[in-house]
Amino acid sequence: MNTKSKKIKVIDPSPENKKYMRIFEQSPIAIELYDENGKLVNANQSCLDLFGIENADVIKGFDLFADPNLPPQAIIDVQAGKSVKYEFAFDFDRVKEKKLYDTSREGICYMECYINPINNEEGDPTGYIVHVTEITERKQAEILLKKQATELQYLNVTKDKFFSIIAHDLKNPFNAIIGFSDLMLKNFSSLDDQTLHKGLTTIESAATHAYKLLENLLIWSRNQIGRNTYNPEILNLKTRIEEVIKMAEGSAINKDIRVTTNIRKNYPVFADKNMIDTVLRNLISNAIKYTHKGGKVKVSATSNNNKVEISVADNGIGISPDKLSAIFEIDKRTNTLGTADEQGTGLGLILCKDFLDKHDGQIWVESSPGKGSKFIFSLPIYEKQKPV
Ligand code: ADP
Repeated sequence: MNTKSKKIKVIDPSPENKKYMRIFEQSPIAIELYDENGKLVNANQSCLDLFGIENADVIKGFDLFADPNLPPQAIIDVQAGKSVKYEFAFDFDRVKEKKLYDTSREGICYMECYINPINNEEGDPTGYIVHVTEITERKQAEILLKKQATELQYLNVTKDKFFSIIAHDLKNPFNAIIGFSDLMLKNFSSLDDQTLHKGLTTIESAATHAYKLLENLLIWSRNQIGRNTYNPEILNLKTRIEEVIKMAEGSAINKDIRVTTNIRKNYPVFADKNMIDTVLRNLISNAIKYTHKGGKVKVSATSNNNKVEISVADNGIGISPDKLSAIFEIDKRTNTLGTADEQGTGLGLILCKDFLDKHDGQIWVESSPGKGSKFIFSLPIYEKQKPV
């Protein structure tokens, strides 16, 4: 190669050009310049700082139209000579993972970007100028606001449900309490012992039912707003199941129902004792409640991967398919009398589900009408090496 014939002529930029270059370099706004084919020719210092890049050379030649962050419509608009503005989430970890270029930044940042075509005096495109601004803080505030709005809306719906349950379900027992006590007071001297006893029994059962309903509603609503104390500890599930069965012995004996267990191991779980006892109590008392005299209830525990699955199976009345989908949902709550006319609140299973959600657990049911039901819940098995 004849170097002599190829004399390089260095043109010193005019003072005017130098001025514009300094403005470009020192602009506090990140600016990228692209040629008419959309290839990056230069990026100023603010742009390099924004993307954590040391030297513009590593990104020179970058294809604007191959940028996965650029929405397809923006490409069409820019190529048609229009200016566009868009926002995107920029994943610096992906840049590192794919080894696109070296960057000192990490995580996901939100950017706002303006692309403007640059035209010459004749109006022909000669390139593109791109301004990028980081809007991570604004975006995070927006995300937080949206989350809070959703939570507020949820709390509002929850509050509405709470009041509608109170209005409907508490009315009946109070009607009974007020009606019967009024009747007894008005006819006090003329009532015989048997009628008095019957009236008092009705009042007592209505008051007990109203109290239970209110108690469950309060636990449920406290749970909704995160006010229930959650004190997890290492529990032995076998012991918990045996203790809860012992407490339910009375109602099982009354209905001549045999409660058996099949729990081979002492599955340890890291859980809140009150909540787990409530779940077990609800499932076991339901099994007894919805099983005919002389029936059977079996509580079993097995492990499945890192979880323990506890099942409470009965050979009672079972649940129809249309009811099955409603029993864990507050707005579709169902309430069936037990086989000995035991009253329920229709909130027990909803509480079970809420409590299990808190433990990363799950609950589901298999049932066929007339044959029986099997409620199963799972909990992560406690592993010693895990930090608690
Ligand atoms: P309740 O206090 O009414 O028992 P739950 O939330 O515990 O409230 O149960 C909701 C409904 O699910 C019950 O009213 C009943 O219809 C049905 N159910 C629950 N457990 C059983 C079961 N073991 N067998 C049949 N039906 C059941």
